[in-house]
Amino acid sequence: MEFRDFRKISGVARIDEPVNPNLGAARMSRRDQIHPWISPAEGFPGFRLAGNIFSTREGLANWFNVNVDDFTDIMMEAMDQPGDPRVIPVPDYYHEVGIDDLPIPTYYSEDGGPYITSGIFHSGFDGRYNLSFHRMMYLGGGRFGVRVVPRHLNALMKEAEKQERELRAVVSIGADPASLLAGSSSADFGVDEFGIASALHMKAEGRPLNLIEPYVDGLRAPAGSEIIMAGKFLNERVPEGPFVDITSTYDRKGMDPGEPVFQVEKVLAREDPIMHVLLPGGLEHYLMMGIPKEPAILRSVRKVVPRVNGVRLTEGGCCWLHGVVSIRKQKEGDAKNAVMAAFSGHPSMKQVVVVDSDIDIFDDLDVEWAVATRYQADRDLVLIKKARGSTLDPSADPTDGTTSKTGLDATVPLGSNGDYDKVSE
Ligand code: MN
Repeated sequence: MEFRDFRKISGVARIDEPVNPNLGAARMSRRDQIHPWISPAEGFPGFRLAGNIFSTREGLANWFNVNVDDFTDIMMEAMDQPGDPRVIPVPDYYHEVGIDDLPIPTYYSEDGGPYITSGIFHSGFDGRYNLSFHRMMYLGGGRFGVRVVPRHLNALMKEAEKQERELRAVVSIGADPASLLAGSSSADFGVDEFGIASALHMKAEGRPLNLIEPYVDGLRAPAGSEIIMAGKFLNERVPEGPFVDITSTYDRKGMDPGEPVFQVEKVLAREDPIMHVLLPGGLEHYLMMGIPKEPAILRSVRKVVPRVNGVRLTEGGCCWLHGVVSIRKQKEGDAKNAVMAAFSGHPSMKQVVVVDSDIDIFDDLDVEWAVATRYQADRDLVLIKKARGSTLDPSADPTDGTTSKTGLDATVPLGSNGDYDKVSE
């Protein structure tokens, strides 16, 4: 199951006319976000562009051969019990290309430059590794300004600096979905998230994920990735952005004090390579970021409510800010405890709706129906003022970044007489 296998599924729009990576590719993705598309890259002979590849839950579930509502549990199992990927020789369909051969998209007109948004960085040394997504602004000459927030890659950078070593990385573009989801998951510091990818791959295909080590010992890429770049972080910072983040609004925080420069030294590509166009603020971006967060919410709510049917970060809330939790209520007050646990499981979340088992959490109409018919603000609202939320939310308090949170208990009171049941016949 490689990235390019998406071409075999039905509903792929094959565009014969070349699409321009400069604004045209993003426009193509925005036009119809629930269907994948592929086209030749205008001005970049031999290269293709493709977007909206993993932009629906149904599509992703099909890839992994599971049901949509089982996905959170499967993701959680892969995080709890990572697998062992297998390292294989570099397949001979790879060849070296120049960095300026790549069609690097510009997504929106005020972006700081062309960006690679679908690259997953594998980095580390001395047995400590990390896999993570980072947006990369192209500066020319193989140099990228890379957004690195204070998480594991940043910690590896500091460790390398302390030991006066270079931090190298391999960046995979056009990777399989198990690797992409693992790239936005987080294991303990130093623990390689490729283990999560391999466990997911094992669930889907019954065998471990194949990785290759094209240039540097220990630094790996999923075999079959479309484009693989190898390079190192320089001791240099540059202004990065502006760039559109998950809320579809401009994030201008990368400007000061700047972001580290990654120098690409080698690029490998398959035959007819495909640049994965991952639209910032699009459905595919939502799912890639949101799905790996849902297990933390599920785990947290399960600690306080014995029966939790499922959780979902909703697309309407960018799969980041809003969520739904389905519980089987056993004691009055369970739903309010579920609200608090959901917020602690995913601190960026600012609204959560708790519903009963009869509500389909993947159906926004059904969830809103539960709020409309089962919720009363004076008894069912949990309001938390000035908590820490997402820095990406433009409505957060500009002075200290805090946000207010709302939890809605849309469950039926225990012992009710059936007045709340949806009549179906
Ligand atoms: Mn990590």
